[in-house]
Amino acid sequence: MQISEDGQLYIGGCSTTQLAQTYGTPLFVYDEDLLRANIQAFHKAFQQFDVDYSVAYASKAFCTKAIIQLVQEEGCALDVVSGGELYTALAAGMKPEHIHFHGNNKTRDELEYAVEQSIGTVVVDNFDELILLNNIAKAKAKAVRILLRISPGVEAHTHEYIATGQQDSKFGFDLESGQAHDAIVRLTELPHLQCIGLHAHIGSQIFDSRGFMEAVSRLGKLFDEAQRLGLDFPVMNLGGGFGIRYTDEDHPIPIVDMIRDTVQAVIQHFAEKGRPCPEIWVEPGRAIVGPAGATLYTVGSRKQISGIRNYVSVDGGMVDNPRLALYGARYEALLANRANDTDDGIWSVAGKSCESGDMLIWDIPLPHPQPNDILCVLSTGAYNYSMASHYNRIPHPAVVFVRDGKARKVVRRETWEDVTRFDCDCDDEPVSLAAVSASVNDEV
Ligand SMILES: *Cc1c(COP(=O)(O)O)cnc(C)c1O
Repeated sequence: MQISEDGQLYIGGCSTTQLAQTYGTPLFVYDEDLLRANIQAFHKAFQQFDVDYSVAYASKAFCTKAIIQLVQEEGCALDVVSGGELYTALAAGMKPEHIHFHGNNKTRDELEYAVEQSIGTVVVDNFDELILLNNIAKAKAKAVRILLRISPGVEAHTHEYIATGQQDSKFGFDLESGQAHDAIVRLTELPHLQCIGLHAHIGSQIFDSRGFMEAVSRLGKLFDEAQRLGLDFPVMNLGGGFGIRYTDEDHPIPIVDMIRDTVQAVIQHFAEKGRPCPEIWVEPGRAIVGPAGATLYTVGSRKQISGIRNYVSVDGGMVDNPRLALYGARYEALLANRANDTDDGIWSVAGKSCESGDMLIWDIPLPHPQPNDILCVLSTGAYNYSMASHYNRIPHPAVVFVRDGKARKVVRRETWEDVTRFDCDCDDEPVSLAAVSASVNDEV
């Protein structure tokens, strides 16, 4: 990101005002070099050690064909959490064996699809899924590789981690109550599933390595128990959650330090037991795409309430970035066409939807915004586009990747026609469901 002498913001060598003119707003702009560098930071951190590892991009953070192709080029595996994400991954050309399927309530259809496509692993979340997946594997005469998702009783978030507070979670086999142990014992009765390891994901926006080290210690003990049962798992998957900087108040430690502490904890645990170190897998989402994305908006109306607040409204909002509305997320922003102007007031950035809670940023300094200024909100690459909604029938923005002064469109902007395309014609004949079920009975 650069600012020219005349106050224009550049991303990937492209003028953001020209991007806004060419592609319209709101517009998601991803710096392609930064996307690749963020991935390489993980590779470099692991390559300092003599361990086998895998970096799987958690596609839920931003799931489109272009990013999936990019992460595959950069040597990543891929996590998906639904049939739709799996379909997108396969359509993008991701190798099935590099795809891992997560989720606490995968449907039968989704699991059948995953088994048919011979994906890398299914990360099994609970006892119902163990049985369902074993049956599907049996019916399709396939051996399915799985990991068991363990809820290790560690919750990590920004600067804190809680060592026992997180038993109450919808995800995974609970460690404390013995569910995790029971799941491992149960594996012997499920011949169509081949368990290759254990998984834990301890939180999001994690700023230091203590939570990961605690998770290693707890999962490590479970590896020891499994070994006593004659099961040697080759993979320890420590999930994602690596934190990024959104505002001045965020201070994540560098990825290289986070990975070093975590890998050393794994190496040490298995060295002490005299057993080989398992492959270490991680699953970053936000840390790869978050800082590489920005959103351009056009400024519209303003409302100044003397002594209370100045509102400036933009042509998007919670429909393309619901994170403030959902959990009070904070962002920084600047005027992309007047980036050198002196801030002369405090403004709150509002969206255009009919919700008072449709805000993007509360109270940031800006140089008195004018209609048609371009506002750039920073670090919007993760959980923005992927969480976009059609509230108020607002079409989804376009997405461009920029690099070396060139832009390429990777998702086109939706039109009003797009947002009505699933509405059926009102003159369709009503279907009698009673008649349908009667005819089904006849056949039986
Ligand atoms: C969401 C998620 C991730 C990615 O989390 P980030 O905070 O984006 O790194 C990784 N693994 C699992 C299981 C997840 O649910």
